[in-house]
This record gives sequence, C-alpha cells and structure tokens, in this order.
Amino acid sequence: MNMAEWLIRTAATGGDRPALFHGRDCVADYAAFRDRAAGLAARLAAQGIRPGDRVALFTPNRPDYLIALYGIWIAGAAAVPINAKLHPKEAAWILQNSGARLVFVSGEAGATLGTLSAVPQIDMGSAAFAALMQGPPMAPEPRDGGDLAWLFYTSGTTGRPKGVRITHGMLMATSLAYPVDVDTVSPGDAALYAAPMTHGAGIYAPIHVRMGARHVVPVSGGFDPAEVLDLAEACGPVSMFLAPTMLRRLTDAATASGRRGDGIRTVVYGGGPMYLADITEAVDWFGPRFVQIYGQGECPMAITALSRDEVADRAHPDWRDRLGSVGRAQSVVEVAVVDPALRPVPPDTPGEIAVRGLPVMPGYWENPEATAKTLRDGWLMTGDVGRLSADGYLTLVDRSKDVIISGGSNIYPREVEEVLLTHPDVAEVSVVGRPHPDWGEEVVAFVVTRPGTELDEAALDALCRAEIARFKRPKAYVAVPELPKNNYGKVLKTDLRARLQDPETG
Ligand code: AMP
Repeated sequence: MNMAEWLIRTAATGGDRPALFHGRDCVADYAAFRDRAAGLAARLAAQGIRPGDRVALFTPNRPDYLIALYGIWIAGAAAVPINAKLHPKEAAWILQNSGARLVFVSGEAGATLGTLSAVPQIDMGSAAFAALMQGPPMAPEPRDGGDLAWLFYTSGTTGRPKGVRITHGMLMATSLAYPVDVDTVSPGDAALYAAPMTHGAGIYAPIHVRMGARHVVPVSGGFDPAEVLDLAEACGPVSMFLAPTMLRRLTDAATASGRRGDGIRTVVYGGGPMYLADITEAVDWFGPRFVQIYGQGECPMAITALSRDEVADRAHPDWRDRLGSVGRAQSVVEVAVVDPALRPVPPDTPGEIAVRGLPVMPGYWENPEATAKTLRDGWLMTGDVGRLSADGYLTLVDRSKDVIISGGSNIYPREVEEVLLTHPDVAEVSVVGRPHPDWGEEVVAFVVTRPGTELDEAALDALCRAEIARFKRPKAYVAVPELPKNNYGKVLKTDLRARLQDPETG
C-alpha cells in the first residue's frame, strides 16, 4: 500500500482538522495538506516523474516539506531526503548516486548547491513551487509494500554514505509499532519537528498523519532549545524525537531558565548513546516524559524501545540496569546477539546485534557488496555490539569498529566514557584506541571540560581506578575545546583516531 493513503483517509473524514504549523501558526488543515500534496503530485507526473523515480529534498525543516514528501509519494516516486547541513558537494554526490530526477531546495542549502549538480532544482520558497501545489489533484499511484518510498543516506561517520532502501512496507511496520511500543497518538497531539525531518523525526510523520495529529515545525527550521520550550507551551501536548546531545541541551536550557517543559508530552530519544548521568538529570527535572528507541537507517527507529515507565520507575529493583539498556525488541522485529558464525551467544554475553523483521531494509541502493556484508541469512547485522539479558533487555556495548583491543582484552569505550562523565568538570568525552607497539592499542580520552574548569588528569584517573578495571583506564588524556561531530551530532571517532596518528596532535 502507498503510505500516502493514510493522508487521503485522514483528510476524508477530518479535513478541517489543523494539520501543518509554522511555529504557532496553522498554515494548512488536513484538506489543504492533501490538496496541495495531490496537486504537486499531478504536476510532477505531468513533468514526467514516474512511479519508482527518485525526487530529492535538500532543505531545513519547513511545513511544506511534508507537502512535498506526500506529493512525491502520491506520484508513486521515492523521496531522497538530504540533511540540509551536508556540504553541497556531498549533497551533489547523493543526487547523482540516487539518480534523482528533481530536487526541492530551500534556504542556504539550496543556494549553495547552485551549479554543483545538474539535477533540476525547484526552490520551495518560489512562486514556481507555489504554482506546483495548485495542480488539479491526482489519486495516489498504487504501491506495493516492497516498493521504494524513501532513499535514506546513512550519516557516514566513515567513507561515502550508503543509500538505504526504505520501502512503503518498512515505513508501515515502523509506524504501526510506534503506538504499540513507543507512545500512543491522538488527534489532539502534535509532532514537534525539533530534529531534522530528513532523519528519524521525519520517520514519525506518517503515524501522526494517520492519527490526524498536528505537525509543528519550528520557525528556526533547526534545534533551538528555547524555541522548543516556547512551542511546547503554546502547542502542547507535543511529542518529539531528539538525539541525546539535543536532550542534553534542552535540559541545560530548561534548568538554567527554571522552565519545566510544560506542554511536552513525550521526548523519544535515541540515535546515539544516552549517558546515564544525562537521562537521570532529564527525568529528575522534567518527570516521566521519556521513551528511548534504538534503530538505525537500515531498520529505521524500530529495533528496540524502553518505555516511559521503564525510564522513570526508580522503585523498580532493575531500574538502573534497564535505564542503561535500550529496552526490548519492538513488536515488529526479532533481535538476537550472535557470534561471527551467526549463532546466538548466551545471555549477558557481548556479541553483534542482529535484527530480522518487517522494518528491515531489503538492501542498499545499487551496492550489492555492502548489502551482502550487512544482510546475512535474512538478518541485518547492525555492526553494534550488545548483550541481551534473559528477560530480553538489550544493552548496547559499543559500535564493533570502536571496540579497543588492548593486550588481547576488549575494552568498550562507552563504559569508560560513562565513568568519566560522572566527574562534575567533564562536559563531553570520547574514548578511542591509539596503536601501541606492545599492547596493540591503548586507551586515550578526549575531554571537553565545563567552562571555567581545567582538565585534571589525576582526578579522572582516580575516578577510573575506583570504578573500572585498571586495564581500561585511559593512558592519556587530551583536552579539546569541542569534539568533532557529524551533521547528526554523532562524535566522529575516526577523526579522533586520525588526530592520534598525526605527529602534531598525537
Ligand atoms: P543511523 O543509521 O545514522 O541512525 O545510526 C544508527 C546507529 O546509532 C546505531 O547502529 C547505533 O550505533 C546508534 N544508536 C541508535 N540508537 C541508539 C541508542 N538508543 N543508544 C545508543 N546508540 C544508538
């Protein structure tokens, strides 16, 4: 089924419901949302866009992003959402790799793309775009569950990004798991797009369309904690997806201004490690409003979930262990932790996390080698190391490529980072391995200290001695003003490792 059918159905019975908001202002009800998307689809079809063609979006968050997305789907085409913060050369590469027929652009992203790509561009702020939305509406092209809906380029912490083929069926599975495993949605609720719609936040749009909820896009088009707190108060109850680094910033902004997050119904966090110290502080301040998910582009947002109660219920004897986990398998997938021969390892033993089920991709876009490495015997090999408890809680230990092997022992950087982060002067930290002639690798910690404080190696070393095995202690500390991050806020450990190879900084 074409995912756009959900928009048609919601608009058929609730056309006068408020749908799209730019900040506090309603810019379209569901009838207008449908009519503009279906009009755009008809114009795309008239311009020769056929079912299966790719149409890209290179724009910061804006309300008509959803009109364009649904217009692309109604025409039977697949969307190629590109993070607006990518370098225009990277965007041009994605346009070329995906074979996009057209790209919708706006803001700086569009201006910088300029002549770097031969793919025709339509500025979403232009009269031409407005005219496209006025086309006589068309009905959604029939699509099968296996047809491409969204070509999602992985964030690429190493090498060229790969295009994950996200099908209509995958989106449906992820969407239907949301009310079962993450959070209920009702028409009075609003999805607040505080994180890029080209990524996880956008994956949650369809379930909110299905339920006839509101879609609120911040005027800044980006993540501004004060704006999020304002909009939640004005438009609540709102739910939003935030990466852990964003939640950290939201908590800092709220505690500094004494605001309790009125209007925030749910913050779904995930996409990277959430440190215990950060989530505990967030729950202390905001209360039980947090749900964690674990996913990856190859199984979008839909591997595991840790419920609101599991995050918040401190009276539970297993609360701390569960909070340090990513929860249990979502209803639409099987999760296993396996050895290199794909055999399940015993409970509580680290191994690679493998996933099987409806939201798992059928493969990468035109990259059979990467597909063969990642999909084995029907299982998605996530590249994440984790352990599964006997009662089904999955704890992520680390990315397999980030594991440090020193003197033959595995050291999981995250464990060391968790300890260092409990020091009050440490704002951010990232632990990597540096080649060592005797040990293979040794542990090095890059540390960002809080303003007004300095790196105190002795204190950090004492902390590690008190908490973890001696061989896991960093052998060196490097003070840095900030950590290198990719456009989704993930720390680029490859950059840090490269710095250690560099005679100047290493
Ligand atoms: P991406 O495909 O860019 O969304 O990145 C997915 C990767 O982010 C996963 O393979 C994990 O390594 C990491 N990740 C996602 N969710 C979580 C989570 N809840 N906790 C820790 N790491 C996560």
